[in-house]
Amino acid sequence: MGIRLSRNRSLEEADRRYIWHPFTQMKEWVESEPVIIEEGRGVFLKDIYGRWYIDGVASIWVNVHGHRRREIDEAIKAQLDRIAHSTLLGLGNVPSVELAERLVSIAPRGLTRVFYSDNGSTSVEVALKMAFQYWQHKGEKNRTAFLCLNNAYHGDTIGAVSVGGIELFHEIFRPLLFRSYRAPSPYCYRCELGLEREGCGLACLEEMERILRRHHEEIAAIIIEPMVQGAGGMILFPEGYLRGVSGLCKKYGLLLIADEVAVGFGRTGRIFACEHEDVVPDFLCLSKGITGGYLPLAVTLTTEEVYSAFLGEFSELKTFFHGHSYTGNPLACAAAMASLELFFRDNILDAVRQKEGILKDWFEEIRALPHVGDARGIGLIGGVELVEDRQKKTPYPYELKMGYRVCEHARQKGLLIRPLGNVVVIMPPLCISQRELQRMLDIIAESIEEVTSSEG
Ligand SMILES: *Cc1c(COP(=O)(O)O)cnc(C)c1O
Repeated sequence: MGIRLSRNRSLEEADRRYIWHPFTQMKEWVESEPVIIEEGRGVFLKDIYGRWYIDGVASIWVNVHGHRRREIDEAIKAQLDRIAHSTLLGLGNVPSVELAERLVSIAPRGLTRVFYSDNGSTSVEVALKMAFQYWQHKGEKNRTAFLCLNNAYHGDTIGAVSVGGIELFHEIFRPLLFRSYRAPSPYCYRCELGLEREGCGLACLEEMERILRRHHEEIAAIIIEPMVQGAGGMILFPEGYLRGVSGLCKKYGLLLIADEVAVGFGRTGRIFACEHEDVVPDFLCLSKGITGGYLPLAVTLTTEEVYSAFLGEFSELKTFFHGHSYTGNPLACAAAMASLELFFRDNILDAVRQKEGILKDWFEEIRALPHVGDARGIGLIGGVELVEDRQKKTPYPYELKMGYRVCEHARQKGLLIRPLGNVVVIMPPLCISQRELQRMLDIIAESIEEVTSSEG
């Protein structure tokens, strides 16, 4: 056996022996052939055997400008020559200041304060704790609950799971969670209220208001994923829904937490998804794409109103007692600055909107396949929902693993994607070329046809 081959075999062996992979049934994993990535370039990833794949999940929804973008590589190297890490507890650091100023300049107006953490879940935890503590300082001590949506996903830490709404992931932790109210998911393809989009009058908002009328005095904030519920299955909000939620927050005097961890930074064709309906939340949670997909970093932006409620004498204990070891990491902030610069220099938003056109045309075609129930998306985020019976919208049974099987076929054809149940996810790096995108969509269509026709 060659040296290279034996190295590869022992890497695979060691992966099976030592690594516990996230969201993965390890019993299956250890019996499967793992893909171990060694290198990347642009939208492509190379495994240890030298096989190249399109990175169709953008390395789990984070990559924006492709792998090994010179400008980001150089920004990180330049920062590395100064310092890799220093804390924000009791000190400042240069890149975190520069990035905060930049973020405020592009965020919806009124979001002027930046709190750093290091992943999407913590950016949500920060928002939840700030919203709760804000009301404590305001003397509204009964506001201890949150309102979230069915099918919501806000991360995997316990606070984020408490405002989650995906049975499959969250149900087992129920005894550990704090109190949340759940409003219907604006999932038009499978409307919880049994209505059709035409003429429904956004009745799901009325349901939300029904909860608010009874419980608004106990609720600190409403938390949503603006425009698209991501991990819940790429559920696209109907027009007017986001604005409607914002309106209800104002009407009942509640704070609005916009979790744009997945949809922020151009994913939907706007820098922030809230812009689609001119909504300004009280908290904006950002992570994933913030560093262009290079390094872990997150921010929670908020308003002067919230910030100033925490000001007081040292002895008043109004301090926000929360912070993480790697808060405001300089390498990550430097990557984020470089990523933002590329964003504007290269007109990423215009390019995304062009590619959105390709995606929308493809949705039309793919909807003709007999086992495609729905195909939906906005910008460069989308999903294709597979069904056993299109008339009755019967989902394929979980055990059939239809989503996974489609992805398995795609992998054989040189595309790496990851499903959400029966939903095939479209989430390439924003920099994908039109040709590469077309190739990706062709592979997905072929894979869906192969898998669904054999399942008759
Ligand atoms: C991914 C995601 C999170 C969690 O981010 P992590 O970095 O994985 O902790 C939170 N909210 C949304 C909407 C997400 O898509």
